[in-house]
This record gives sequence, C-alpha cells and structure tokens, in this order.
Amino acid sequence: MISFQEAKLIIQKKIFELGTEIVDLNNSADRILAQDIVSNFPSPKFDNSAMDGFAVRSFDTIGASIKNIISLKNIGLSSAGQPSNLTLMSGECVQCMTGAKIPDGADAIIMVEDTSGFSNDENVQIMIEAKRGKHIRFKGEEIKEGETLIRKGTQITSSEIGTCATFGYGELSVSKKPKVAIFGTGNELVEPGQDLKEGEIYNSNLFIFADLVQKAGAEILIRNVIKDDKASLKSFLFNALQTCDMVISSGGISMGRYDYVREVLIELGVKEHFWKVAQKPGKPLFFGTKKNTLIFGLPGNPVSSYIGFMIWVWPILRKLMGSKETKSIKGILSEPFPLEKFKYRFLFGQAWMEKGQVKCKPSNKVGSHMVTSALAANCILSCNIGDGFLNPGEFIDIHLLPWKTIK
Ligand code: AMP
Ligand code: MG
Repeated sequence: MISFQEAKLIIQKKIFELGTEIVDLNNSADRILAQDIVSNFPSPKFDNSAMDGFAVRSFDTIGASIKNIISLKNIGLSSAGQPSNLTLMSGECVQCMTGAKIPDGADAIIMVEDTSGFSNDENVQIMIEAKRGKHIRFKGEEIKEGETLIRKGTQITSSEIGTCATFGYGELSVSKKPKVAIFGTGNELVEPGQDLKEGEIYNSNLFIFADLVQKAGAEILIRNVIKDDKASLKSFLFNALQTCDMVISSGGISMGRYDYVREVLIELGVKEHFWKVAQKPGKPLFFGTKKNTLIFGLPGNPVSSYIGFMIWVWPILRKLMGSKETKSIKGILSEPFPLEKFKYRFLFGQAWMEKGQVKCKPSNKVGSHMVTSALAANCILSCNIGDGFLNPGEFIDIHLLPWKTIK
C-alpha cells in the first residue's frame, strides 16, 4: 500500500497530452483550446459611429443648443457595411449609422435625436454642441493588433466563442477528446428499470461514470457491465485496451474471491504502477498502463467509485486534454471531520459562504455504500492521516465538484 501523495506522483509521471484536432467554431463549445487566439487586426478595425446620427466637424457645432440651432449641409450617408468616401468640409455633415465608418474630416457624431432628423432636407438643424470624439468608437480602443486574447488550455465557453468569431476564427485547434472505456463488474448487478431478484442490486456506478466522463469532456467508446468471469473480462479488456486512451472500471479489484480485474489486466500485459492507496474510501485503487492507455481500477462501493473518479480520474482526463489544473481551496469546518490514523480521508460535503468566509461540513452519512451522501453535496472534503477529529473552526481542503458552486 502506498500513500496518497506517492500515488499522485506516480500518476503525474505517466500523463501525456493527447493530440489536437481542428473543429468548426460552431462545434467548439466546452472543448479545450490547443492554440493561443491572437488578434489579427485591431478592434474596432476602423473608427466607427456608436450612434445613429450625423458625422460632423466638432468645431462647426460650437455653441449649438435648442435655443441656438446651427444648420449644417447634409452631403451624404455612411452606413454599416457601406462606408462613404466623402470628406467633410467646413459646414457639412454626413448621415452616419451605428457601426458605419466615420467619414474623413469628421471628428464627432451627433445623435439623430439632437438634430432635425434623417429627412431628405439638404440642411440639418443641429441642437447640441459635439465634443471632439463624441460617440466615436476608435480604431484599436478595445484590442490592439497582435494581442493574445485567449490562452491555450482555456475551456471554450460562449465568451471565447464570441471573441473567436469577432476576430474571424472559423475553426479552432482543440485537444482531442480522450476515448474512454467504462465497465462495471459483478454478478449481482442489474440495470435500473428491470426487476431485482434476491441478492441483486442495481448498477449505479456506470451511470455516475458515464455522466462524469461526459462532463469532463471525454468520449465514452465502450460501456459494459461484465459478470465476475475471467473469460468475459478478458475479451472485454482486450478490446478496450486496444481502442481507448483510458479504461476505468468499477468493482472486482479488491480481495474477494471473484475480484478478477487486476489479475486479468496483468495477464493482458498491463503494467501495474500501484494497487492499494492509504485512503478511505477506495483503498484498493489500481493504476496501470499499457502503451499509451491509462487504466484505473476503482473499487465497486458507489461512494468509493464516485469519489475515486473525482479525485483520481477527473484531473487526469482534464490533463490529457491540456486543461489547467483546478486547485482545492481551504474552508473552515462547522462540524467535526473524522480522521483516519492510517488513511487519507475523503467525504462528500457541503461548502457555503458565511460572513465572507468559506464554511463547510461533511455529510453525516459516512459509509462507502451510501451514495445518497452525494445528494446535498457540492464538494468533497479531504484530510491527511490524523488522529481523532478535525474540529469545528479548523481548516480543511475542499475539492469543489466542478459543476457546482459555493453560494
Ligand atoms: P466490489 O468492489 O466488486 O467488491 O464491490 C463492492 C461493493 O460495491 C459490493 O457491495 C458491490 O455489490 C457494489 N458494487 C459493485 N459494482 C457496483 C455498481 N456498478 N453499482 C452499484 N454497486 C456496485
Ligand atoms: Mg464485485
């Protein structure tokens, strides 16, 4: 058995980054960028109007007000997409719509509301004085040419999509999605929706895994429940090891008479890096590799499988895609947290904000078979080996479930 910290170090050394692929901007949501996004032009690209109105020379409008109307000669129109190539001379103005290029010679926009309006009249009545630069969006005021806008490793959300579109990126280089096989083992497992016979239970873990793999941004290639039978396990794993970047199992990895997963993996040439970590829940954790395939064997108790996935598998799936690591944060316990003398301890928990501080408490259901302990949880709390309890008021590590928030 090795320590939590040793196990983490061993895994770190085995991680690689998957390759990249090009996707359409439309299909890029949630993917991890594999390139920096750089502005190929300044934004705005050219001086343009922030309002529907008239482009003027500010000098011509000095002293204009409702009581002192100034008349300017309307010489044309500049609209979004149809810039005018007119040059304003003294006493002239040009109708200029939002987003339209500012005609040469003009240095301010007067809102149409402060004029006699967009009629066909040659003379426009100006009822306000325009300050130089008023209502003009200047070239490069937001972004200079050549700025790095988004860094490689960023997860793409609506904000990144909008920025990429603004700067003309129709395709993006993103990290490939890890191809994953998930499987559960157990003669007792029945799929939800079917009837249970005596001694049987429903397979919950693969449903949890399937959702987590997808949430992490990876792709499930194979999903199966396998009987505690070496031959079936072997043929399943043979295939999975050849086609997937990661194989994740639940159950069949402990000391039971029918726990064949480890034996079969080794028979198939998987190199074992460790089996059993000083942690609770989930001690019989297996980690191995075969060529570029990473194999995680998680024990079958639902909380061990779920927490094991979040602590061990999730960060690795994210790293395979080049994503930045999410760090744990510290919170102040409001209730005691039970420590283990020889094991790193994890429990589902709740974290919340109180008077500007992060407070937290563990679930009061502590059994590794009690999957409902995850229901109210927004985090996993963890603490290194210790004696007795961490007491209320003491700090503890909080691993926020990535799809939850602290309110
Ligand atoms: P094992 O790791 O195979 O010894 O299983 C440990 C416990 O987890 C046993 O009580 C199993 O019935 C249960 N278990 C194993 N696989 C699953 C699963 N996919 N869904 C729910 N419980 C499971
Ligand atoms: Mg079993």
